[in-house]
This record gives sequence, C-alpha cells and structure tokens, in this order.
Amino acid sequence: MDTHEKLPELTEVEATEIAQQSINISPSAKKQARKSPPFHFVIWLYKWFQANSFAPGFLSGIWSQPILGYLVAFVGQLVIVMGLLVLFHTYPSFRFLEGPMILFILLVALGWGAGPGVVALLVGAVMLIFFVFPPTFTFTMSGSSEVIELLLYLAVGLTISILASNTERARRASEKLRLRLDTIIDAIPDSIVLFDLQGRRIQQNRVAREMSEIENLLLPAEELPDKYEMIDAQENPFPPSQLTHRRVFAGEREAQATIGYRNTATHHVERWAFVKSRSLADEQGEPNYAITIIHDVTEQKIADEIQQRLAAIVRSSTDAIIGKTLEGIITSWNSSAESMYGYSAEEIVGEPITLLFPPDSQDEFSAIMEKLRRGERLDHYETKRVRKDGTILNISVTISPIKDRSGKIIGASAIARDISEQKRLQAELWKSKQQLEVILESIADGITVQNTDGNIVYMNEAGARLCGFTSTSQLYQASDSPIHAESVIQRFVVLDERGNPFPQDELPGSRALRGERAPQAIVQYFDKALELRRWSLVKAQPIFDEHGEVQLAVTIFSDITESYEQQQRKDEFISMASHELKTPVTSLKGFTNVLQRRLAQQRDEKTLHFLSRMDFQLDKLTKIINDLLDISKMHSGQLALHNEPFELDLLIQETVADVQAALPSHRLLIEGETGVQIVGDRDRLEQVLVNLLTNAVKYSPKSDKVLLSLSQTSDEAIVSVQDFGIGIDVSHHQKIFERFYQVTDPEEKTYPGLGMGLYISHEIVNRHHGRMWVESKKGEGATFYIALPILQKDNL
Ligand code: ADP
Repeated sequence: MDTHEKLPELTEVEATEIAQQSINISPSAKKQARKSPPFHFVIWLYKWFQANSFAPGFLSGIWSQPILGYLVAFVGQLVIVMGLLVLFHTYPSFRFLEGPMILFILLVALGWGAGPGVVALLVGAVMLIFFVFPPTFTFTMSGSSEVIELLLYLAVGLTISILASNTERARRASEKLRLRLDTIIDAIPDSIVLFDLQGRRIQQNRVAREMSEIENLLLPAEELPDKYEMIDAQENPFPPSQLTHRRVFAGEREAQATIGYRNTATHHVERWAFVKSRSLADEQGEPNYAITIIHDVTEQKIADEIQQRLAAIVRSSTDAIIGKTLEGIITSWNSSAESMYGYSAEEIVGEPITLLFPPDSQDEFSAIMEKLRRGERLDHYETKRVRKDGTILNISVTISPIKDRSGKIIGASAIARDISEQKRLQAELWKSKQQLEVILESIADGITVQNTDGNIVYMNEAGARLCGFTSTSQLYQASDSPIHAESVIQRFVVLDERGNPFPQDELPGSRALRGERAPQAIVQYFDKALELRRWSLVKAQPIFDEHGEVQLAVTIFSDITESYEQQQRKDEFISMASHELKTPVTSLKGFTNVLQRRLAQQRDEKTLHFLSRMDFQLDKLTKIINDLLDISKMHSGQLALHNEPFELDLLIQETVADVQAALPSHRLLIEGETGVQIVGDRDRLEQVLVNLLTNAVKYSPKSDKVLLSLSQTSDEAIVSVQDFGIGIDVSHHQKIFERFYQVTDPEEKTYPGLGMGLYISHEIVNRHHGRMWVESKKGEGATFYIALPILQKDNL
C-alpha cells in the first residue's frame, strides 16, 4: 500500500488480449479467418507472437520495445552457438550440449516472453542442424539420434519458453494488480489501518499516514496525545478496551463505534470518527489482523447538529414555515403551518401550494414563482390564503428562493404570519382614528398635542382658529416644520388673570410635559396685531409611555372670553355694590346703637327688644357685605394679611368661647392641643374658625355637639371641626370651596347662605401656605380639616 504510483496504463499483453477479444468477436475477421487454413494459421501465429512478447521490466524508453527481445533472441542465440562451436573446435572432446542454449531461451522468455524465446529456440535449432548435426554445413541430418536430440531440444526449449513467459506474465499481472489496489486504497478518503494482535500498525493508507495529530484519528489510546480524550456519541468517556480493533481481537468478527476526540483543555469536541474494524486472517488462516476503517464524520455531525437545530427552530416557530418545489409542490410543513391552515403535514405534503390560494388569486402563484425563478425574494408580502375549513386568512409572508450548493434555484421557502387579528385591529384603529378626528375637528375647543421638544404634532381646526389662522392648513403653510409652540403664540402677549405676564414654563402644556397631571389655568391672550384680548381656560394632560416617561402633552383651550368678561362685570358690580352698601349699613348700625343706649335709659324694654333684633340683622348684613368685599379683594389680589406669631391653641379657645356664647344650641368641645405657635393673620384665621364652627352648627340641626380636634405633625398643626349633621356627598367635596358654590340638594334648600364662607376660608388658609379639606359622607356628618405650617423654634 505504501506507494504513490499512478495506475499503470494497459500493458501490451493486456492490450493484445483486448485486441484478440475484439478480433474474436469481429465478424469480418471471422470471415477472413475462414478464408483458408494457411491464412488462418498465419494470423494465429502473428497473434501468438504478439501475445507472447512483452517489454522487459528492467528496460525503459526505446529499449523497452518487445522487438528488442526478438533481436536479442536472434543475435544472442547466434553468439551462443558460435561460442559453443569455437569451444567445440578448440576442445574436440567437448560434447556439444544444448544446455546453454536452453538456458538462454529461458532468460529470453523471462525477459521478453515466449515469442522471442521461440525465436531463440528456432535459431538454435537451425544452428544445430547446420553446424552441429552431421553432415555439418547442410540442413540435413543423417542419424536418428540427432533427430531425437533435436526434437528433445525443441520440446524442452518450447516448454521452458512458454512456462517462463507465463510465469513472468503472471508475476507482472499480480504486481500490477497490487499496485492498482494500493492506488485505490490510497485514494480512499478514509483512514485504513491494519493492526496486528499487539495493536501495532502493520500497514496504513495514505490518509492514515499523512493526517496530522488530531486529524489522524488515532485508535490505540496509548498513541492519543495527552490533550485529547476519547468520548462516545453521548459524550461519555470512551473506554480504550472498546476500541473496535480490540473488540475484533477479543472475538467479534466485526465491530464499529462512533468516537469523539475532545480537547481536554477547551472541552471542545474537535473531531468525530466512525470506526469500523474487521478481523483478517494471516497466511495460516488465523485471525491475527484487524483491518480498521476510520471515517471522519465531524462535518457530517456538525451538519447534523445544525440540521437538528434548524429543524427545532422550524418546529418551534410560531410562524408557518413551508417548503415547496419550483413547481409549487409542498415539501415541508411545520406545526405552526398545521395550526394556521388546518392541514396536517401528512395531508398536504406533496400537494400543490395553490390549494391555499383563494380561487380569485390563483394567478398570484405564477407571479410569485416568476420572481423566485429570477432569484428575487418577496419580503413581508401581505396577501390572503384559505384555511382547510374554507375561511380566509390574512397573512404576511416572506418567500425566498432555496438554492443548491451550485447556486441553482431548486425550490422556495415561505414564512407566513397570521395577520388577521392585526388587520382587524388596524381597521378598528383606523375607524376610531377617523371618529376621533371628526370629533376633534368638530368641537369648539382648540386642541394641540405637543411632543417633549415643545413641537406641535397636532392641532385641530378650532385650535388653529384660536391661534389666529383660518385653518390648520394655513397654519402648516405659514409655519416651519416642525411647528414650535412658541412660534405659534408669538403674535400674542400671554398674561395671567391679573394681567401679569404668564411665564411660558408655567403654562399648563409645559407643566404637563414635566409630568404634572391635569394642570389648568385661565390665560389671557392679547393679540398684538388685532389688539384683541381673549381669555382661555387652558387644561393639559400628559401622555406617558410604558416606562412612565412623558411622551406628549395634550392641551385643550376653551375660549371663555365672554363668560369671563361677564364674570368680571359681575365681580365689579358686587365689589361696587358691597362698597356702596357698607357705608349706609355702618351708619345704620351706629344709629341703632345710639338708639339702644337711649331706650335703655328710658327702660323701654319692648322697643329695645325690637332694636336688638334689628341690630342682629344688621350684623348679619354687615357680615354678608364684609364677605362680598373680601371676595372682591381676594379676586383682585388685594386681600392684605397682617401676619404675626401667635399661640394657635389660645386663638382656638377664645374663638370657641365666643361662638359658644352666640350659639348655645350645641356644645363645642375641644379635644387635644397643638401646643404650637404659628405665623399668620390672627383675625383672618379666626374668621376661618368662626366660619367652620357656624357651618357645623348650621348643618347639624338634629345634633347638639361639635367636636374640635387639635393635633400636630412635625411641620403642621392640624385642626379639625367635626359635626354630626347632614354631611356632604363626595361629589361636592371639591366644589364647596369654590366661590358662591352651594349644595343644591332638596334637603339643603332650607339652609340660608350664599356659598361664600368656605371659599373665603380656603383662600385664607391657602394664603397662609396651609391646606384645607373635608371628609364626609351624605347623612353622616362632616369633618373639615385645616393644616397650617408651624413656626419652627429655630425661626423664632
Ligand atoms: P353657605 O353660606 O352656603 O354655608 P359656605 O361656603 O359656608 O356657604 O358653604 C358652602 C356649602 O357647603 C353650603 O351651602 C353647604 O351646602 C355646604 N356645607 C358647608 N359646611 C357644611 C357642613 N358642616 N355640613 C354640611 N354641609 C356643609
């Protein structure tokens, strides 16, 4: 096996054999051969000589021509006979022997075949007759012993010549056969190793010989480099005793195994081999050898793994994955395809893909196939298919050509996703978007949507009109893209309710963009060009993404100019009226007091009684006028506070005592204490307490007690006023602090009032940086809370 020689070309002997065969089967040759026996004999003779002469193995080039054999035979035999004759002449006692001549014939036959051997034999025979057998120098023979001798010479010579020739030819044939086998074995890409009983390599082919370290999948464990270990297909250690040649020596006729070679350092399996051994008998027929073939299956294993992995991906994909031939015959069908289309793989593999096409889109198939044949792919192509049950399915499909190794397109793969639900949602989304747009366009309020950069991403028609444009399209034409909010409102001076400039950052839209929920403000827009003043109630709302980050802010502008101006006029009137009322009522009060003093001197008890009723009503009137004046002041920002530090508990005790004296129907109880000082307007805070206490008494006619609770936290003093009266429904909790708000439920009708007290109280508390709120349920009494910041000792 250890040879690199190429397969030899056909030898002449073989060529002749083949030629012979072809001549034998050629009818024309047969016809010719049948022509005449002598001719037949000549052809036979020619062919015999041709078949029995070959080139000597030890010569090459021109010298290897078989014709040289004939020359050597002829000349050589002549020379030998001449030499023998010279010997015979010199030593007459020398008995001429045919031995050397026969030896020469043997050599010639071994070297060039039986043809030249026969020539040497014949030359020898002629020479014997002419020179040796008496009468010499004639071609006749006298004695019968010479004839016998000649015949013996011819018989021995011919036999030796043919035998030698055949032996040599057989030797050459077997040598060539061996060379050819070696070449074939060397050409095999697997390692082939012959082991003896001791596990030694007796012979190996080229692949086994040439492969380097790991690629030469060494079988004897002893020869395996340290850095590798053998593992079985399950990646467990492979015991050396299980090596296939050892198993064969242990008695198995044939053994096979898959062995992996793992790098002990990296734990990476670098090679996989499929190993097969078979016992081989020695000359004595004993099974002393094992022929082992090692087939490197690394790539196959990797390919298998990739294939398995891909198959698993295809199996587990939620998309339908379908393979088809270029003719559109389905070749593979995964489980998602089964559930999506309703056909099982057994049902549909082998069927045309057009089975899934709706009847009206059968043409689509040829269009798709045309594209695929050009090597193009269809990406996320949206179309319709039919399920087994006949229902229509909306899908998004990517169809790609499948190419073989040479790049030839042999089929196509289709990866389809059911988008029916998506389509439905899209349609719904489109519908609701349409609806929303119609609503947004038809409402009177202006609506804008701003992104975090402050750019306007949407504005409705009313919004555009409020901004001084005739329509949104005019706004888009007049503005740069993107439209920045500031550029839209630059034609306006933006003011607050009191006419002070409204900082851009404080506008509800900006506050919403900072994450504030539902900011709102009354904003005055003064159009510089038209010198027009308008008021808007601006409300904004942030829109958050899934991470809670503000993405957009929606701002709604309600034009309240008319109602606002009306309100202003109303406020001005109230302010004026209360001012106008205050003077006469004050003098009325003064005169009443004078009259009271006089009548007291005259002891006119009856008139005094009427006067005290009048005084009481005048007090009520004064309170209403004062409240109205307070409201006007608050509204115009003119309510002045005279702040000073004072003991809160003391104020509460004094106020409660005063109110208790005026309203004896209820017991006003104080629980706990705050024990703190606060800074504020004592009178105004007293006004708040009086308000809460009078309300508590007023709205709890069936009860006789009001509870004041005092407490404190680290930074606030908390005062609560609890009554056990009619209570307030939760829906009114916010509104009762608004100006002139009164609960208008039927049972409330009996309570007089103007809805000013809580508004004033709330404003006063706010101005003290405090908080005020209510906790109540209808019919279960109400608790009003005031929380006021404590004057910290350090600040004293
Ligand atoms: P009014 O002068 O009407 O009492 P307020 O501003 O003091 O005005 O109160 C506003 C409204 O809040 C009242 O009309 C009443 O309906 C409700 N209210 C206030 N205090 C109480 C209370 N303690 N119990 C039930 N309802 C109350």
